[in-house]
Amino acid sequence: MPEPTRPDPTSTPMMQQYLDAKAACPDALVMMRMGDFYELFLEDAVEAAELLELTLTARNKKDDNPIPMAGVPYHALQTYLPRLLAAGRKVAIVEQVEDPKLAKGLVRREIARVVSPGVVLDEAVLDTREPNWLAAIAPPDDAPDEGARWGLAWLDVSTGLRHATARASLAEILTELARLEPKEVVVPRQPATLHGDVRRAFPKVALALRDLPASSLETAASPLEAATSAAADLVLDYAKDLHRGGELALRPLVVLGPDERMALPATTVRNLELLRSMMDGGKKGSLLGLLDQTRTAMGSRLLRSWLLAPLLDRAAIQRRHDAVQAALEAPLLRAELRDLLRGVSDLERLVGRVAARVATPRDLAALAASLERVPRLAERLASADVAALEADPTARPASGRGPLAALAQDLDPVHALAVEIRRLLVDEPPPTLKEGGVIREGADPDLDQLIAIAREGKDWFEAYEARLRDASKIPSVKIRFNSVFGYYIEVTRANLHLVPDTWLRKQTLANAERYYTVELKEREDKVLGADDKRLALEERLFTGLRDHAASFGARVQETAQRLAELDVLLAFAELAATRGWVRPTLVDEPLVDIRGGRHPVVEAMLPPGSFVPNDLVLAPDRRLVILTGPNMAGKSTVMRQTAIIAILAQIGAFVPAEAATLGLVDKVFTRVGASDDLARGQSTFMVEMTETTEILRESTDRSLVVLDEIGRGTSTWDGLSIAWAVAEHLHDQSRCLALFATHYHELTELASTRDAVRNLSIAVREQANDVVFLRRLIEGGASKSYGIQVARLAGLPDALLARAREVLENLEAMSVDPDSRPRLARGGKRPATWQLSLFAPKSESDSSPSEPPPVAPATPDRLAQDLRQLLAVDPDELTPKAALDLVYKLRAAVQRHDGRPAPS
Ligand code: ATP
Repeated sequence: MPEPTRPDPTSTPMMQQYLDAKAACPDALVMMRMGDFYELFLEDAVEAAELLELTLTARNKKDDNPIPMAGVPYHALQTYLPRLLAAGRKVAIVEQVEDPKLAKGLVRREIARVVSPGVVLDEAVLDTREPNWLAAIAPPDDAPDEGARWGLAWLDVSTGLRHATARASLAEILTELARLEPKEVVVPRQPATLHGDVRRAFPKVALALRDLPASSLETAASPLEAATSAAADLVLDYAKDLHRGGELALRPLVVLGPDERMALPATTVRNLELLRSMMDGGKKGSLLGLLDQTRTAMGSRLLRSWLLAPLLDRAAIQRRHDAVQAALEAPLLRAELRDLLRGVSDLERLVGRVAARVATPRDLAALAASLERVPRLAERLASADVAALEADPTARPASGRGPLAALAQDLDPVHALAVEIRRLLVDEPPPTLKEGGVIREGADPDLDQLIAIAREGKDWFEAYEARLRDASKIPSVKIRFNSVFGYYIEVTRANLHLVPDTWLRKQTLANAERYYTVELKEREDKVLGADDKRLALEERLFTGLRDHAASFGARVQETAQRLAELDVLLAFAELAATRGWVRPTLVDEPLVDIRGGRHPVVEAMLPPGSFVPNDLVLAPDRRLVILTGPNMAGKSTVMRQTAIIAILAQIGAFVPAEAATLGLVDKVFTRVGASDDLARGQSTFMVEMTETTEILRESTDRSLVVLDEIGRGTSTWDGLSIAWAVAEHLHDQSRCLALFATHYHELTELASTRDAVRNLSIAVREQANDVVFLRRLIEGGASKSYGIQVARLAGLPDALLARAREVLENLEAMSVDPDSRPRLARGGKRPATWQLSLFAPKSESDSSPSEPPPVAPATPDRLAQDLRQLLAVDPDELTPKAALDLVYKLRAAVQRHDGRPAPS
């Protein structure tokens, strides 16, 4: 039976408005202003109700076909919007574009703005200390040739900062993206597989699909230019589209060549806890958390981006070091400058809001107040050389400007703008224009006149009230005002009999009556007319001022950038002063030479003075350090501090050490611990191997590699074999500077077969069955791993530990071959050093490659020592296997004594 036809409930004019907006922004949740609410309908309502925990109601409830509906109070938009964006949703906000009081029929509504996780200016959504990146990927063009590149661009709409770079493969682009942590990524529709690839790599990041805009470049000068401009166009096209014609305060595009900054893969950022602590994912406990002594939001964001992109240009790094040093040497000046910066608002984002014409009166006042600090900052900076001279008369700069004075150069206070804002705005403007009172008296003659009328009005109403009281003899008579009824006279019920005939009834309440008089009405018309005119005029003056401010956008942005840099450099000096950090010496050759190095974050968490500093040298002739020592000894700490010191040096900071001499590092790789990446369907072992592959492929002889455990996710022998081969590869092929921590202390044998391998360990002292951690790095490998002792510290039961010790002894007996030589070092290419050693064969042909290295003959003493092992053995307790191992050991000892192999 056919369904009876029902009128379509969505066919009302109001719903039509909604559907039109939805058609214009099909991928957005449409929030439509209706009275005091923003309402959502249909499937948007269902989704928003769930995301925002709203009650889902319905329009046309009584109908068979009700329309799902959900809404939020208009004033609460700023609390709900961030939650929708955090869920990765885009929101189209539809406003009433005419006054409902004046509208004939349905109020006209239009999409006022579209907000997405990557295109947003609302303060409630943005994190002041983080950029809000919108990124876009551009594939190589249709006819890819050899040098074709993938482009990547990223833009922060709130500050106008934008960058672009290019890479040879999508994989490299995804690595860059991981580090940027964009809030939203724009992906071209073609190639069709791209969307899925990006989605898999970033399952939680919002994605927007777009057609690539027709290239603005007729001919690109290089594949880099072609790729970067395509990506930059894509990201901008999307942002402008969402911004619906509003202006964006854009900074010039900065194109980064692939080799201009130190490469820090996302794994390194995570493992070194540069931005977030692993413990709770927060900034506290991260390196950034410790470093961020900045005074402004701009400085904080700049610091974050410096930390993710250390420099490779020695001169540029040294310029930063010079400024830090100068600020370090002038403590009073530094304190004063930092105090001045504290009063500087987030100019970058203020400019963004001014350009988009959403800046409030308070925004403009903050802009002026911040700019007014600039002349004083510049003047104090310019005097920096004098201050430094006072601190140290020998420190006179050889010539020209000192490093701080150089920062004052071109620091533009945009004076004219600050003056104009002050001229027009009251000192402490209200948050919005709604109530007026924004423009200063005396700024505009027309406005002054209207203000005078309002003021006279106020006096008049007071006088009139007194007159009415006298005439009527009603002591409680009051003239009041509300926005619906205007001015009225209120009389309580008890006094109604005193009301004169000339008062006209306006409204009846439960215990009062409201009246008006002809005189009151006339005055009301005059005053309210003036009030409306005043509001309109204030709005006109304010928007004019805002437009004027927008025309200074680029200059203010320049100033903002310089203040941010100053803020970061002063923060570096502050860290150096309060934490005893030193200026690193930079050299050309690959070198890490750290004296008394500390891990800044671990040190900060320990009681003062209890962190044990360590020395560490890595150089081409000792480029691979095998680091052994018990669990909890401090291996990870010392390795991470080495990488952190290299990074700090190259962002221009001083470093937590007594002294450091460092060659510039092109990439820092880290492989740490075990973590499953189940979301991407990779086991611990697969993650480990994938990351290791990347390190082996990408590291150069200028890279610093930190490997904390390799091969732990599989069987011991598999793991050890892989670890061994990886270490050899790093030494022979990559030739990077590398720290390799391992519990496979068998790896220490590598030092006997490879010339630039060094064994270091972390000292412990054994006391009975306990270990005492000394935290001191010493030359030489650990002979054992103390896992059982450390397990004891953790509280494993004694009986269990005794059994573990027994099994360990059995295992250790098997780790040498029948000739009592380590089983692992055999095979592989024989390195040159053997030929130099005393017992090496005379020439390569003298020995087959599979033969193990010769060992020194044992002395009779040593034989007696070996035999004495028998005394420690209780033959009745010996398992057959252990007995057999013992026979092998003793046999090998006799052979060594004889200096010849026994007949087999
Ligand atoms: P595992 O092998 O179990 O991973 P590990 O040898 O890598 O252990 P770390 O994680 O580096 O050990 O250090 C363990 C703890 O020891 C740190 O959290 C810190 O509290 C302390 N520690 C490490 N290094 C030092 C040091 N130099 N001075 C003082 N305390 C330290």
